[in-house]
Amino acid sequence: MTAADNPTAPVKYKRVMLKISGEALMGDQGYGLHPPTVARIAQEVKSVRDMGVEVCMVIGGGNIFRGLAGSAQGMERTTADYMGMLATVMNALAMQSALEQLGVFTRVISAIPMDQVCEPYIRRRAVRHLEKKRVCIFAAGTGNPYFTTDTAATLRANEMACEAIFKGTKVDGVYDKDPKKHADAKRYEEVSYDECLAKHLGVMDASAIALARDNDLPIIVFSLDEPGGFKGILAGQGTYTIVRG
Ligand code: UDP
Repeated sequence: MTAADNPTAPVKYKRVMLKISGEALMGDQGYGLHPPTVARIAQEVKSVRDMGVEVCMVIGGGNIFRGLAGSAQGMERTTADYMGMLATVMNALAMQSALEQLGVFTRVISAIPMDQVCEPYIRRRAVRHLEKKRVCIFAAGTGNPYFTTDTAATLRANEMACEAIFKGTKVDGVYDKDPKKHADAKRYEEVSYDECLAKHLGVMDASAIALARDNDLPIIVFSLDEPGGFKGILAGQGTYTIVRG
């Protein structure tokens, strides 16, 4: 039995933020939502919640719409960004549905009020949901254009007093160059916020990294494609990169 299978193994963090891109939900389709992929990720989240960890989530919208792409094609930027934020709400609802099918109580909490669809963001209420072991999915980013969901994840992680941000990606950490293109790419065990910024290591966008740095919030970059990977790290195992000061 590994530590990840042992329910009595010490858990490294009590409250975490999981940030995934919208593209993580599209499977091999190249666009939109792939329900079996959403269900697989929901299972990963459930296994961490079942360890007693309080889980916050932010899901991007890039599988549906990105403001920058819209504005590059001539749309007015702020309108395009609002469309991007609405895309994140669709992804959050898909994840809520998948989690609830697994019996995990979940709240979608939107930075842009849409009362018929989900809850508005009220910090104290969200904290209470977490204390009751409900998974909180924060949708609509920060509610402001010119930001990304990486920054939204960092902002909410600070507000919710998360101990770390888990950034689920396609690779098992931060590399000095793209490991899919360079066989000699080296993975960092640990890297500082400033090095990430100076070397443009692509962990998260610069405003998100600066916000994490200024609040001493570690970012753990790990592979979401590795089954049991999220849970394993919480139990002190697995490969990942930790970004901290
Ligand atoms: N967005 C925004 N403000 C925010 C968060 C997101 O305007 O606080 C918009 C922005 O247009 C962005 C889109 O929502 O391109 C989708 O978010 P993101 O690009 O971060 O998604 P991901 O790349 O993680 O899938």
